[in-house]
Amino acid sequence: MSDQTIAFDWQAADAAHHLHPFSDHKSLHEGRVRIITGGDGVWLTDDQGRRVLDAMAGLWCVAAGYGREELVEASAAQMRALPFYNTFFKTSTRPVIALAERLAAMAPGDLNHAFFACSGSEAVDTALRMARTYWITRGKPAKRIVIGREYGYHGSTTLGAAAGGMKDMHRQGAALPDFAHIMPPYWYGRGSQMDPAEFGVHAARALEAKIAELGADNIAAFIGEPIQGAGGVIIPPATYWPEIQRICRENDILLIADEVICGFGRTGRMFGCETFGIQPDMMTLAKAITSGYAPLSAVMVGDRVAEVLINETGEFYHGFTYSGHPVSCAVALANLDIIEREDLAARAAASGEILRERLHAALDDLPIVGEIRGVGLIGAIELTADRRTRRPFEKTGRVGTICRDHCFANDLVMRAVRDTMVFAPPLIIGEAEIDDMVARARRAITATMDEVRGEMAV
Ligand code: PMP
Repeated sequence: MSDQTIAFDWQAADAAHHLHPFSDHKSLHEGRVRIITGGDGVWLTDDQGRRVLDAMAGLWCVAAGYGREELVEASAAQMRALPFYNTFFKTSTRPVIALAERLAAMAPGDLNHAFFACSGSEAVDTALRMARTYWITRGKPAKRIVIGREYGYHGSTTLGAAAGGMKDMHRQGAALPDFAHIMPPYWYGRGSQMDPAEFGVHAARALEAKIAELGADNIAAFIGEPIQGAGGVIIPPATYWPEIQRICRENDILLIADEVICGFGRTGRMFGCETFGIQPDMMTLAKAITSGYAPLSAVMVGDRVAEVLINETGEFYHGFTYSGHPVSCAVALANLDIIEREDLAARAAASGEILRERLHAALDDLPIVGEIRGVGLIGAIELTADRRTRRPFEKTGRVGTICRDHCFANDLVMRAVRDTMVFAPPLIIGEAEIDDMVARARRAITATMDEVRGEMAV
């Protein structure tokens, strides 16, 4: 339907009938939503004909970029052949089998078994249900507690939100018993008086302290994103994850890597746990598995847990109508072809280096910029009221929102988490587009600084 030919107030209809995720509807209705109508590469088009550089790859997912015809073709071909069949009752379909086999080959270590769902949240739910079922089957039902981290994000189902460390979500009915949280490895915000390597070990040892408090016999699993994305692109020092892994192993606690954002090249390697040198017992995948072209997620399960589930549990009472949706799996297979053929992980590593170099060149002279950090093509820019002391702005989140709005005005999508600007562009972003993104970011951050200069140290 063309909005040029039909006079229809899309914004008014949206406000009247559409409840948005993670939105304050009152403030949403004060403005008008932007209607996105198309996409090509790293670019979005809106209904006013404006081109917007999407430095968030949708919601961290459009790794291969918009407008990839072969994903459209894969989807259409599978819909024609078989649009749906389930995998519950002694049936399977070829795309789901092919994808499970392919993921098992790609995933590090012995993560040889895939369970499919539609969203990252469902994958997290599944992993947590599996972890508890594993311990119940092994005769240790007391091992139920799941430990996550402050600022962790593991989705919006109740189990996922409880495992995550977002207090606002807990306050809206998602705090559950048998979940605990430790500090995040947030060097800039929580540990910059220490050397990063020392801080990494210190932050990991918070897990040891929590285990001592709760008892290893009561703990099922630790869950963490290799890089905490939605919590503000918190990149742990290199010392952090090996120490977490040591503590989990010594205490017989399952380690779950939530790779919903990091998976499929984002960090410069195929998986974040490869970038950080760890071998989890389970790994959750979503988003870039299909580059967002179809909803799909997976839990990759290591041999240790899988053998118990397969040989001893009996029926695992868990699954979704769309577990292993054949169209999503066909899209994933075509998308993995692109990721491998175009070597998008290596490309993310190289482009990430260029992006950070250009960001430093463009932003280092702005006193509002406290830190620029990144790994591969995921990164963050910390905004600070005083670069020297790293003092944050008062009323957390306000300056971030101002900056996000200036990005919007410059046709750049960057997201604000508290007062940290985060970005994760499509992995196919080219050098000229990186320069364009950096120029827009500079304009937006300069405008932000001009607006809040009175609150900054002179
Ligand atoms: N885990 C992580 C690490 C995520 O970033 C997200 C989504 N941003 C989720 C889980 C939840 O995924 P979904 O929104 O697809 O349910």
